[in-house]
Amino acid sequence: MKVNPAYQTKEQLLELYNKPLLELVFEAATIHRQFHNPREVQMSSLLSIKTGGCSEDCGYCPQAARYHTDLEAHKLMTVDSVIEQAQNAKTNGSSRLCMGAAWREVRDNKDFDNVIEMVQAVNNLGMEVCCTLGMLNEDQALRLKNAGLFAYNHNLDTSPEFYGDVISTREYEDRLNTIENARKAGITVCSGGIIGMGEAVEDRIGLLMSYMQMETPPESIPINALVAVEGTPLEDQKPIEQWEMIRMVATTRIIFPEAIVRLSAGRTKMNMEAQALCFMAGAGSIFAGDKLLTTPNPDFNEDKEMFEILGLISKEPFKDAEQPVTIPDAKIEERKKQEAARQTELEEAKKNAFEAGFQPRKIVTADSKS
Ligand code: SF4
Repeated sequence: MKVNPAYQTKEQLLELYNKPLLELVFEAATIHRQFHNPREVQMSSLLSIKTGGCSEDCGYCPQAARYHTDLEAHKLMTVDSVIEQAQNAKTNGSSRLCMGAAWREVRDNKDFDNVIEMVQAVNNLGMEVCCTLGMLNEDQALRLKNAGLFAYNHNLDTSPEFYGDVISTREYEDRLNTIENARKAGITVCSGGIIGMGEAVEDRIGLLMSYMQMETPPESIPINALVAVEGTPLEDQKPIEQWEMIRMVATTRIIFPEAIVRLSAGRTKMNMEAQALCFMAGAGSIFAGDKLLTTPNPDFNEDKEMFEILGLISKEPFKDAEQPVTIPDAKIEERKKQEAARQTELEEAKKNAFEAGFQPRKIVTADSKS
């Protein structure tokens, strides 16, 4: 059951969202128990592999180059430093690593080749690998799939009606196309939204309806509360009430019983009791680590304590789907072959020069003259 057949119209969804809170949580908890182990919560880590300097204008995002925030931009991390961070995240209990690059879209260049190598390496560590790299075409999606990518994240953020109030540099349709390209390549889809951007409850429902209309709705649906960052157009938005997060998590759980609902950004504004209600209502994952791309997040130790108090257990990787197999990437293999050939040529040339009696030039210094 990808979508709960009991809810089909916008009116039904609105009625559900507005139900007395504890009734809503009870219904969500009942469904959650039919499809998931309610004690299991996946710890995921989010790593910003390329920070800032993005050409898009998403109104909530400090990584957009056009907004003046305190964010320090960084170019793409090296493959080795990503492996080190992934290993740390794994040691701290994360079974999934989401790598985010602040790009409008993926380009077929050396940076993308490096991302392919990162995906291969993290998949080989036995972690679920997710990437969020902006828009991508079918060929790029296929390269990611073959590298061992488990999920591609591309959020719709909000309803089609409210979308234009937040983003103007790309269309809702563009986002749907990217999701479709990931799906065609056989990658699972992670896509969700942000609440607290000034949208109406109807827009939250509109977001869920967009997923309901997909042939295959996302396997993973992150629910974020806006973290209003100074310098972005949404800097003055008041934080949403914790109850709104609980309602959104519960409604999403009821509509998409099989999906993993991820309690994502905004947890620093929630107390443990509110988070507990979210787990009760079907949240099956949190992001661990003190940073969520660029915004604050509770640290590992706080979360470990919360897991202990609530009796939650950390979910192992690949419990919902098999680990993808990493297939060597033709482009990278070809590049390595060319590099190796160049190296051999260089060594041959050196050897020949010596055999022909070449002597390195003697460097004359003031000392050697005297
Ligand atoms: S959300 Fe992504 S696409 Fe939008 S500005 Fe931020 S980094 Fe760029």
